[in-house]
Amino acid sequence: MKPFPIIKKPCLWSVIFLVFTQVALAQIPGQSYYDNTGFVEYIRGDHPVIITVPHNGYLEPDNIPDRSCNGCKYGSDSHTQEMARTIIDAYFNLTGHYPHVIINLLARVKFDANRPIDEAADGNATVEVAWQNYQNFIKNAKSEIEQDYGRGILFDFHGHSHDVERVELGYTLTNEELAMAPEVLNSFDIVDGSGIKSLILDNPLQQTHTQMLIGPYSLGALIQQKGYPTVPSPDDHYPLANEEYFTGGFTIFTHSSRRDNNSAIDGIQIEVNRDIRFDETVRTEFSIDLADAIFEYLNLFYLSDVEFVDADQDGFNNMVDCDDTDPSINPNADEILDNDVDENCDGKLGTSTIEPPNPFEPTDELFFYPNPTDELLLIINANSMNFYVEFFDTSGKLVYKVVNQKELHLEFLASGQYIVVYHDLIAGKAIKKKILVK
Ligand SMILES: [Zn+2]
Repeated sequence: MKPFPIIKKPCLWSVIFLVFTQVALAQIPGQSYYDNTGFVEYIRGDHPVIITVPHNGYLEPDNIPDRSCNGCKYGSDSHTQEMARTIIDAYFNLTGHYPHVIINLLARVKFDANRPIDEAADGNATVEVAWQNYQNFIKNAKSEIEQDYGRGILFDFHGHSHDVERVELGYTLTNEELAMAPEVLNSFDIVDGSGIKSLILDNPLQQTHTQMLIGPYSLGALIQQKGYPTVPSPDDHYPLANEEYFTGGFTIFTHSSRRDNNSAIDGIQIEVNRDIRFDETVRTEFSIDLADAIFEYLNLFYLSDVEFVDADQDGFNNMVDCDDTDPSINPNADEILDNDVDENCDGKLGTSTIEPPNPFEPTDELFFYPNPTDELLLIINANSMNFYVEFFDTSGKLVYKVVNQKELHLEFLASGQYIVVYHDLIAGKAIKKKILVK
């Protein structure tokens, strides 16, 4: 735990510090914890993603005066708190894990959690403490993620009322910067000022800055694919110079990996339009879809460096071993027919009556063809547009990853056996197959 950066009353702060430490020891993923003002809620997470919700608190206690600072904004980002809570549930259903979520429960007229302390609290001592606690919940979640996963991402969640009905993703880049030619956008000067700088400089798919913004694996692409117009995305590269657009605010500027923040945690501001937020059915569906998109993004960029364990020591780690507690079950094991156990981890119970799938006979089952292969491998019966495929060598090392492609060119892979894992993001399940590359 890091010390508080602003210490006005050392005694009071060390008491708060102690309270924080005690709480941290006992925290359970998915449960809510509150700071000592009662105005900041932290839902403990156990995955490398943080969601902050600064602008949709409902509390307006009389003893906290309304902010009256010059130019302060008081608008509430309606329904974003409710949507974040739907995302938590959807994310858990999808992954068995929780994002870290930090919510400002005070109405924005009392506390703007996405501003520097002066404007956020307008001099009110209690709100200043709440501001400090809000920041510390973020910082603690960040250090935990860095410790457990090495890297992660923060999404600051908002609602906008701009004329163009589309989701806005804020990378702390302006309309003008987003409109720059790829060679300028990919230069270090611009990359340095991006909220996902850490990811651009080092990502497992070797995507450039431009690709991370508008390419097929960009967050904009993953959201747009689910039917929600988004900027930036492959279909809408940048907001025009005269169009309203939120580049990102205090939270993303302060806590993301941009410039000299020296953070392994990237940051993107997500601004949701009115058409999505103000219709209950649409906003619930969107929240579930956004949880999907976030998990896809995590899988593409943040979870692939996770170290795997081989608990049963059969030479296959828990990513490729379908039962890592039993050494006689692994992708290299011989399938024993008719015994209701999938010894070879191909996702099927071997029975003596079923032949391997024949590509010339109709079947709904997913399979790879041909196997063995020289270089071209087709994925037959993949879902239409929501999957990714990973190739692991026999030591369990990830050697290749590809998203939403049914025709794979494998000439760069060394000859040998691979475990191929097909992740179906619609059905929320994975299928493992052994493939021999000749
Ligand atoms: Zn907002």
